[in-house]
Order: sequence, then structure tokens, then C-alpha cells
Amino acid sequence: MYGYHGKVLWVDLSKKETKTVELKEEDLKNFIGGSGLAARLLYRFMTKDLDPLGPENPLAFITGPFTGSGVPSSGRHAVCAKSPLTNIWGEATSGGFFAVALKSTGFDGIIITGKSDKPVYLYVHDGSAEIRDASHLWGKGFYETRDTLIKEVGEKRARVAAIGQAGENLVKYAAVMNDHGRAAGRCGLGAVMGSKKLKAIVVHGDKRPEIKDPDRLKAEVKALEAAAISPAGLVSVAFTSLLNEFGTPAYTDISMYIGDGPARYFTRSVFPVDKVDGKALRERYSVFSVSCYGCPIGCGRLTKFGKFGIDEVDGPEYETVMSFGPLCWNFDLDTIVYANHLCNDFGLDTISTGMSIAFAMYLYEKGILTKDKAGLEIKWGDGETIVKLVQMIAKREGIGDLLAEGVKRIAEKLGVSQDEAAHVKGLEIPMHDPRAFAGQAVCYATSPRGACHLRADYWYIDMGIDVFEAKVSAGDRFECSEAKGAMAARWQNFRELYNALLLCQFSQINTPSQVARMLTAITGWNFDAKTVLTTGERIFNLKRAINVKLGVTRADDRLPRIAIEPLKEGATQGFSPDMETLLRGYYKERKWDWETGKPAREKLEELGLSDVAKDLWG
Ligand code: SF4
Repeated sequence: MYGYHGKVLWVDLSKKETKTVELKEEDLKNFIGGSGLAARLLYRFMTKDLDPLGPENPLAFITGPFTGSGVPSSGRHAVCAKSPLTNIWGEATSGGFFAVALKSTGFDGIIITGKSDKPVYLYVHDGSAEIRDASHLWGKGFYETRDTLIKEVGEKRARVAAIGQAGENLVKYAAVMNDHGRAAGRCGLGAVMGSKKLKAIVVHGDKRPEIKDPDRLKAEVKALEAAAISPAGLVSVAFTSLLNEFGTPAYTDISMYIGDGPARYFTRSVFPVDKVDGKALRERYSVFSVSCYGCPIGCGRLTKFGKFGIDEVDGPEYETVMSFGPLCWNFDLDTIVYANHLCNDFGLDTISTGMSIAFAMYLYEKGILTKDKAGLEIKWGDGETIVKLVQMIAKREGIGDLLAEGVKRIAEKLGVSQDEAAHVKGLEIPMHDPRAFAGQAVCYATSPRGACHLRADYWYIDMGIDVFEAKVSAGDRFECSEAKGAMAARWQNFRELYNALLLCQFSQINTPSQVARMLTAITGWNFDAKTVLTTGERIFNLKRAINVKLGVTRADDRLPRIAIEPLKEGATQGFSPDMETLLRGYYKERKWDWETGKPAREKLEELGLSDVAKDLWG
């Protein structure tokens, strides 16, 4: 087998046992790797009564065939399990160096079940695995845990994925952190790790799978560089140069000007962007570019901070600047950067944390949350309160215990309508306003993990990107037609591949043919543009089927009123996406049943998912 080891490490923490499980070639061909392969491997465990924080919930760390192969911007890994935040399929990916170190252990991934009776960490290297005591690390933040473990195993090349206090305290949106403040942030998978008393996973090794045709792969990588000289390539080079210079906060200005940046908890879209944009960050601090493994772009940030006793901060990224900034009506960079650092160390998803705090500010203004109930004033724009609330959330102290549950449960517990809670299927909406791109609205409503900006970033398309092979092309961003809904489904099919290949969305690889040629060179299996797109569609439908098994119906494919009602200002003034029309087109394209939301039996069978069709339709 080329491009894979063909096996995963299976760990049972209850029994303190580890074993090797061989992977079927058919599963690798059909589901590739990352969250696609994880969905196939975990499918049978995903039942309605599976407690996400119970020992039976399997937690998977999976790489892909591109990992460590030399394909640029492919140093990501996927973390998957049933989500404690949403109670449906949960997945998150993270960059850095952990993925390549994991693949170098001789395994394509690690799946953990059971629950330890005391804190442990998993040490995997060169084909062997040990479960070690981590009592001395329980209660520690991510950075101290990472540094202690690298010293403890005595191997400088070791890479660590770990939880901070938020995961230990089962905060519903706790992240799994790795390397230099990189996060598998979404869906609360850090809490799954915490529920198993698994503090960290440490990996290293020298075992890499062979590549079938290294010369052909090198030629494909070289062709990417040559493509940069074309007119389309120059646009792409300009974009990646901006990412290198300013990181993802390069987008903050554009976002505000086109109405894509939600402010004041989705009630505003115009704000003093020059106080919090990429340029402001560069002017206020020394900021350096940081790359994930094998990435020529380097969108990561290292910020020389020198405040609150913190010398350096990993980040912040666009999503974090927006969620602790304009979303909370806060324009004080110091508290935004500090809140970002605290989230890295506690192991918190910055999007869900910022959203939960912004929701609290919104409810405080309305008088639903009061000083008596909350124990403190929670006013718009108060950076010090934001910092305090991040700490209270991680420790589940006072009002932090409620905010640690995420906006859906906050609304339930306070008797507030779900139309005021900015989430889809329980996952907080990221910092791309669904009123800015109708295609994004339908992608949010239908993404397998809830509101997700990475499972289909439709704003790319309507900002002028055509991917003709995937039958996706740029159009009017406010168009609400069935055709737009159908196009969103096709874009999701293509983007789903990135989560299976563990390819960064900013990668220079942006056509199905490029993906197919590289995949063929690595694995020796014959892929073409059509087969890779069908693979994306298969994985997307498998995840939908898991969610149907877990109780998702068409009624869940919706956006809350707060995020789609027309604004009175900014570039989207007066616009609200017509979800009914968009979804009709989407459902027709997908061949999903309009009444139940289930993928049609024939569609599942056509995709080679007959076992899944039987489970769903009998
Ligand atoms: S573009 Fe950024 S997130 Fe993507 S691989 Fe490169 S450094 Fe990592």
C-alpha cells in the first residue's frame, strides 16, 4: 500500500489496552482519510443514545494520504467523535506539525475508546504505544503540558496534542490544542478527551509510507509553482502574500466593507475596523509569520505581546479578532489578543467562546441576564469583562458555568427563543455573516457539523472564484435561487475532499484534477476529477446519514432569525437570504427527501453506501 500505513492504533483506556487495526483498502479508496475515513470507521458507533462524554464515544485522530508527502499545505489532522456541544457528528481539523509526527509513528491514526480512572497521556512512537500517568499535568494549561511532555519523553521532535483546563472541566466547546497554539477547535472534542481523562497524546517516529510515484508527485508540486505565473495565479499569489504579511486578519477590512463581519452579536455590520484590522495589529505589536508543516504561505501569527505578563501570543486569527472584537463591540486590541492567548492555554474554541460572551452581552442589554443573575456586569465592549469571562468559562465558575454550555443551551436554560441563539444544530456561527453570501447561508444550514465556515466557504466563490470542473462558478452574492442552492451542494462536495485529504483551504491546489493527479501519484490508485468529486459527495452523504441516525431532520437545516433578518446598515442592508428557495434547490441536487431530510435510498446506493441505505430506509 502506498501513501498509507494501512492501520490505526486502537486504544481502550478502560482496559488499558492498545491494539493495531488494519484498514481496508476499499475504505481508503472510498473515504480517503481525515474526517472522511473517520466517519466510515466510527459510523457503527454513532447512535442516538451514545453519550458524547461517556466512555463508549470513540475519539479519532486521523491523518491522510497527503500527510508528510511533500504536497504543500497538507500538514493538518482531523479529530472526530460525537460532539458534546451538538450531539451530532463532530469534527475539527488543525494545522501545525502534529499530523506529520503522528503519521511518522507508523499509524495512519489513533482511535481512543473507554475512560481512564486517573489522568493519563498516550505516548506513541515508531510503531509502539504506552499509556502513561498524567496526574502531574491535570489542572495545567496547554503550554506547560506541551513543554513538560516534550522534556519527559526526551525527544525534541515529539509533537503534542493536549487539552487545557477547559477540556478537563468538560466545557462543551473545549478544543484539542497542538504545537504553536494550533487548535482542533470546533465541536467540543477537547471535552471528549477530558471525559476520558486523557490529557495528551505525544507522537514521533521515523516511519513514513512510501509514495508510488515520487517523480510524478514532484512534477505536480512544481506545476503548482508554474501556475502562479498565470493571470489567475497572480490573484492567488496576491492573496497568499496578504496572508503571509497580515495573517487571516488581512480579511478583517474586506469583511467589514462587504458586510461579512458580524458585529454586536449579529445586530450590526458597520464598525471602526481600522482599530482591529491586520494593519492595526502590525502597528501595535511585532508580529511574525508562522507556517504549518510544508506550507509556503505561513498565515499563522506569533505576536510579541509584553502585556498581562505574557511575552508572546500565538495568533490571533481573523475569527478570534472578530469574535472577541466587533462581535462583542470591543475595539481594544490588548484584551482581544489576551483573550486569544487564554483560549490557547485553557484549550477553548475562540469562535464559540466569543459567541457565548457576545450572547451574554446581548441578553444583559435586554435585561434577561442581570447583574444579580450573572454576578457581574456584562456590558458591550468591556474588554476586561471579556477576559474575566474567558477565565470563568474555562473553570466553570459562576456565570461561566452557564456560558460553558454554548449559545443553544444558554437560550434553553434562560427561556430565550432559539431564534436569538446564533447557531446551527448547536454549533455557533463563525465570523462570516450569512447575509453577506446567500450561498454561505445554505452551506451553514446544511454542513454536517452545524454552522461551519470550513466545510464550504462559499464566500470564495461569489468573490470571484470559478471551479468549472466542480460545476461551480461565481455569481451575484445575493442571488437566492434554486440554482444557487444546487451550486452550494456541489461546492460542499469538492471542499469535503479537503477534510479527507487534510489539505488546508488556503492551499494552491484548487481543482479536482489537481487533487486527483496528486492522489494518484501518491497512492497508485487511479483517480480522476469525476471520481474525486464523487468521493466528496459520498463522504458528505455518509456524514448526513450519521446525523440522520442521530435525529437530524430537515427542520434542523435552518438559520436563526438573529443571523438572517435584514440589517439597517452596511453592505447587506435590507437583505435576508430566502432559505426556502435555496434549500429546495440544494435538496433537489442532493436528492435528499424534502420531508425527512434523509438522503434518498437510490443516491446512497449509487454512492456505494448500500449498508447505510439499509440502516436509513430499512
Ligand atoms: S495557509 Fe496557514 S493554516 Fe494553512 S497550512 Fe499554511 S500556515 Fe497552516
